[in-house]
Amino acid sequence: MDCLFCKIANGEIPSNFIYEDESVVAFRDINPQAPQHILIVPRKHIASINAFEVDDKDLAAHILVDVVPKLAKDLKIDESGYRVVINTGDEGGQTVHHLHVHLLGGRSMQWPPG
Ligand code: 5GP
Ligand code: ZN
Repeated sequence: MDCLFCKIANGEIPSNFIYEDESVVAFRDINPQAPQHILIVPRKHIASINAFEVDDKDLAAHILVDVVPKLAKDLKIDESGYRVVINTGDEGGQTVHHLHVHLLGGRSMQWPPG
């Protein structure tokens, strides 16, 4: 499959991971929208939230329960605050069709989002 984030996750495209484990990798967004802008990407190709399967529950929980708080702490944005975003589909602003979680911090966020 010709998928950018599969290639990054499997090392075909060299990247600097700020975190990796058996199920996810995390690296800096190439076009950061905040001083800290990290993408957390499952190694497994999942096109979007719509494509989650029952077997992905542990993975989804791992990202939110383990990885996001750990990275927020490592990046020292856990106390100041941060935003977690999963863009989904065209109107959701998804441009890479391999599920990824944006972790954004280091500045005040606005609401509503654009
Ligand atoms: P989406 O718009 O699908 O929610 O987010 C895709 C994100 O991937 C964008 O923020 C974009 O800047 C980022 N991105 C696209 N291509 C690359 C790349 O080759 N390397 C990195 N590090 N980020 C990328
Ligand atoms: Zn993929």
